[in-house]
Amino acid sequence: MEDVKCQGCGAFIQTSDPDKAGYTPESTLDRDTILCKRCFRLKHYNDIQDVSITDDDFLTMVSQIRNKKGLVVHLVDIFNVDGTMIKGLPRIVGNKSVILAANKMDLLPKSTNRNKLIKWLRTAAKEAGVSVEGVYLISSVKGHGLTDLTEAIETKRNQQDVYIVGTANVGKSTFINKLIQQTTGTTEVITTSYFPGTTLGFIEVPLDEHTALIDTPGIVNNQQITHDISDNDLKIITPKKEVKPRVYQLNNQQALYFGGLARLDFVKGDRQSFICYFSNQLTIHRTKLKNADNLLREHRGGLLSPPDDETLNMIPDLTAQTFRIERGKTDIVFPGLGWVTIPDGDMTVAAYSPKNVKVSLRQSFI
Ligand code: GDP
Repeated sequence: MEDVKCQGCGAFIQTSDPDKAGYTPESTLDRDTILCKRCFRLKHYNDIQDVSITDDDFLTMVSQIRNKKGLVVHLVDIFNVDGTMIKGLPRIVGNKSVILAANKMDLLPKSTNRNKLIKWLRTAAKEAGVSVEGVYLISSVKGHGLTDLTEAIETKRNQQDVYIVGTANVGKSTFINKLIQQTTGTTEVITTSYFPGTTLGFIEVPLDEHTALIDTPGIVNNQQITHDISDNDLKIITPKKEVKPRVYQLNNQQALYFGGLARLDFVKGDRQSFICYFSNQLTIHRTKLKNADNLLREHRGGLLSPPDDETLNMIPDLTAQTFRIERGKTDIVFPGLGWVTIPDGDMTVAAYSPKNVKVSLRQSFI
């Protein structure tokens, strides 16, 4: 039994603990395709089940590849680069060549300057301690950019294994499914899921007689809003289509609420635009700064939602960080939620987010 892996998520199949990864009832073991109960339900009923696995388990599993030879493809979510770029990746995977693949490009406006973005990503990777051999912009769902990426993988892997590494929910399963589909025409080989943390264990897809493409477990990043919210709210804040930038002309002493999950106060500076990149489903409210606290107190969970009731029970209170923005073309990033681009700069803002979600500034890439 120890050697049998779930063909969906790659977790080792076990029949003793329904709350742990890889559980399946004994009666299902004689089926041709063995799926753990979680993947079975996901595949047939679109239903997500939680399993308990610690962050340490994730790190242990991934660090197993440290001493093996191979090429690493690090997948990041272009809509959440700050939350999905793995800092100090070489410490986890060892000294391997790394290709950076920025997934979910279909979410960015079509007018995005791709060369500028590639340069920006290369710098962001370097700052995170990852020196990359190449940067590729892809959409696993749409299949965009995959031919270029697979060609690069083939050239750079030197007939060695290929490890696909990324945080939970960056789209690793979708990506590998797409590759398999393109090469073999089979669909749904690996379970894909909407919710973070659902790909557990390794899964191998043979590349030739000796080598394989290996899907590693999604390393969990707790610094993301996605950890503290209900499944329903997660659906609302996760963009599914091209994000339409929403532009607000604000005077100082005005504020924006992003649902009731985050807030941005324009404290000081001349009137200017705030360009908001969030899921089109997330409502943005403009208010006067002096009314902002009251609005949250009275309408959080109602007019200002998400959060829904379930999220309200889990999410920490909003706390503020003040930023002085000197230069234009700066993004104020709420990891996992979205960002606001400030075209002109020379201003002071206060950004509110749940305590464990650290707002940061970056040079704008759009
Ligand atoms: P994993 O946890 O890294 O294996 O991620 P999954 O493959 O399960 O994908 C997580 C979520 O991201 C799912 O809802 C996917 O449909 C979505 N997703 C994956 N790739 C893309 C993409 O290229 N574009 C968009 N818009 N969504 C994607």
